[in-house]
Amino acid sequence: MTTRVRFAPSPTGDPHLGNIRTAVFDYLFARKTGGAFILRVEDTDQARLNPESVQRMYEALAWLGIEPDEGVHVKDGVITQVGNYGPYVQSERMALYAQYAQVLLDSGMAYRCFATAEELQEMRDAQQAAGLPPKYDRRYRDLPRSDSDARAAAGEPFVIRQAIPLQGTVIVHDLIRGEVSFACADLDDHVLIKKDGFPTYQFANVVDDHLMEITHVLRGYEYIPSAPKNVLLYQAFGWTPPLWVHVPWVLGGDKTKLSKRHGAETVLVYRDQGYLPEAILNALAYMGWNPGTEEEFMSKSELEQRFSIERINKAPAVFDVARLEYVNGWYIRAMPLPDLVERVRSWIPAEWPMQSPNPAMDAEQYLSASLGLIQERLKRLSEIPDLLRMFFVAPEPSEALRAMVVPKKETWETIATIVQLAIDHLDQVADQVWESAATLEENLRAFALEHEIKPGNLFWPLRAALSGAAASSGVFDVLWVLGKTESIARLRRIL
Ligand code: GLU
Repeated sequence: MTTRVRFAPSPTGDPHLGNIRTAVFDYLFARKTGGAFILRVEDTDQARLNPESVQRMYEALAWLGIEPDEGVHVKDGVITQVGNYGPYVQSERMALYAQYAQVLLDSGMAYRCFATAEELQEMRDAQQAAGLPPKYDRRYRDLPRSDSDARAAAGEPFVIRQAIPLQGTVIVHDLIRGEVSFACADLDDHVLIKKDGFPTYQFANVVDDHLMEITHVLRGYEYIPSAPKNVLLYQAFGWTPPLWVHVPWVLGGDKTKLSKRHGAETVLVYRDQGYLPEAILNALAYMGWNPGTEEEFMSKSELEQRFSIERINKAPAVFDVARLEYVNGWYIRAMPLPDLVERVRSWIPAEWPMQSPNPAMDAEQYLSASLGLIQERLKRLSEIPDLLRMFFVAPEPSEALRAMVVPKKETWETIATIVQLAIDHLDQVADQVWESAATLEENLRAFALEHEIKPGNLFWPLRAALSGAAASSGVFDVLWVLGKTESIARLRRIL
């Protein structure tokens, strides 16, 4: 059997990480099993429709590198559809839903309900007053078909409801949770087709999953109450249901269900905060799944080979921003420097002069060398303006900078003398000394020894004066990258 899985978002807003996590599972499962990953747009809730939502959702998936094999694609703002099971947008499938609703009407598995909104409200008020749970009382279930047809023909508005068996149990076979049983008596004769002719989620979802030959339905655990109704619909049609996989919730750091409140409305927010797509993909794959080993970081292709439904957890996953940062830092450190150079370009402030002050390096080599110095510490690409700044914008001499340059218990006069001594020394040392951070280190340590300068009184002031920052790469690295002319110019300026 070729597996076919679908991600079926409702374009009512931006998908949060929990939604995209389901898409990631769908995609990985399709790749693992050599099947198809399908994107279907469930836009039947016309009142809550947000037209940009599909586009942003697609952009998020594409950023993560998980484009569908079949279904909806968005390129340059234009929606296209690819595949033999279309249309893949539910609002374009209205005739199909009407056709299949008719099948159920004709077989008596569904019926028209003409109750008005006021009527239903009265019913619920009465139930509430009597201390009963709200439930549709099936008042139109036994309306003779001829009456029902006549009222419909006369233009009276109606919904179509499913005639749920009055007794018995429904078993949902879930690949993660095993057999989950529901009593029919607890289920409502729920609506399949609304008054406006649009299908409900329950109905369109089942019809489409069947017609699109979906083999595995991976969806959020919040859909488990829908599953018995879905199973009964498959039975009513005489269709074989897909395999159900209700994936665990994603909780925010405060252990409540993930929602927009957590600031996790879309993965694009994380892109804009300087996270790498490979880190987000990894973090999402690990939200509710694990490989069963200690391995923490996998490439996309490793995930595609290793993912399995058996290793999806039952317990909710927790979305942890601290872990995300840690994972992101790992991917940044693991990236070859030339790749990192390409990734950071868009984060470099436009006003920086992208030139090399060091005659030993051209502009590209200089960018690469400075980036090499901060790669270890970089956790998010958005830190680039902060961390890389010192290499492109010399610190402005100021009282605050002078105060920082002076180590505790020392005076500006002492330190200024040492810095002057260091300038004179650095200015006249052989060019080979400037060839690497290591040769600079060797030379400056000997210099300190010879002049009986405490290392802390030399290296801290030099590093602080060159970088203008309380924390930066080590002084020898900084001297080496900036080069002789720029280093000495910066040191002179602070004096
Ligand atoms: N349209 C539903 C949603 O956006 C799909 C649920 C499902 O995968 O069946 O959550």
